[in-house]
Amino acid sequence: MSAGATDAASRLAEIRQRIRAAHRRFGPPPETVNLVAVSKTFSADEIAPFLESGQRVFGENRVQEAKDKWPGLRERFPDTRLHLIGPLQTNKAREAVALFDVIQTVDREKLAATLAQEMTRAGRQLQCYVQVNIGAEPQKAGIAVEDAVAFTQRCRDVHGLNIVGLMCIPPDGQPAGPYFALLNSLAKEAGAANLSMGMSGDFETAIAMGATHVRVGSALFGQRPTLT
Ligand SMILES: *Cc1c(COP(=O)(O)O)cnc(C)c1O
Repeated sequence: MSAGATDAASRLAEIRQRIRAAHRRFGPPPETVNLVAVSKTFSADEIAPFLESGQRVFGENRVQEAKDKWPGLRERFPDTRLHLIGPLQTNKAREAVALFDVIQTVDREKLAATLAQEMTRAGRQLQCYVQVNIGAEPQKAGIAVEDAVAFTQRCRDVHGLNIVGLMCIPPDGQPAGPYFALLNSLAKEAGAANLSMGMSGDFETAIAMGATHVRVGSALFGQRPTLT
C-alpha cells in the first residue's frame, strides 16, 4: 500500500470507530416512550378523570401524600402502576415498598440497602432507577455523575436491587439536551435499559435524547399551587 492509502485507511478506520461510538452513545430511539403522569399535589378527584381516560402510570413525590390518595383509586383501577419520583428517607422505605411499584430515586448506599431489606421482607421486588445529580447541584438529590456507574453496579451486585434504568432532573434555566445526552451515555455504560427524563417543559428534547419514560405533571394537570 502507498503511504497515501495507509493514511486513508487509518482515517477511515478512525471515522468508522467514531461513528460506532456515537451510535452506541445515543443509539436508535426506543420503540415506545412511556408517559408517567405526575399527580403530586392533585387530589384523588382530580386524578380520577385521567384514570377514566385510560392513563395507568402515575408519579408521586411524597410517600405520605400517595398513602392518602392512592389506595382508594387503586381499588377502582387495580392495574395502576405508581412510581415514586421524589426523595425517599430510609425510615419511609417500608411504606414506600408497600405502596409503590417503581422507585425512581435510589441515590445512596444506605437507601439501597434498606430498600433491598424491605423488599425481601415484603416479598416484593420493585423495579428501581438510580437517580443521578446530572448537573452536580448541591441542593439536588442524586448520586454524583462520576459515581453513577459504580453505584448502579453495587445496587445490583451487593444489594440485589432490580435496577432497570437511570433518572435525572437537569438544572433549571439551562438547555437540558446535553444533560439528557450525558444520562443516556451513563445508562449505556451501566447497562441500564430505561431512561426517565423530561418533564412538561422539555420532554420532547428528552425523547430526542433517548428517554423511555417522561414525567409530565403540569402540562396534564395544570399549574400546581406554588408552595410559599
Ligand atoms: C414535579 C415533578 C415532575 C413534573 O414536573 P412538570 O414540570 O409539572 O411536568 C417530574 N419529575 C419530578 C421528579 C418532579 O418532582
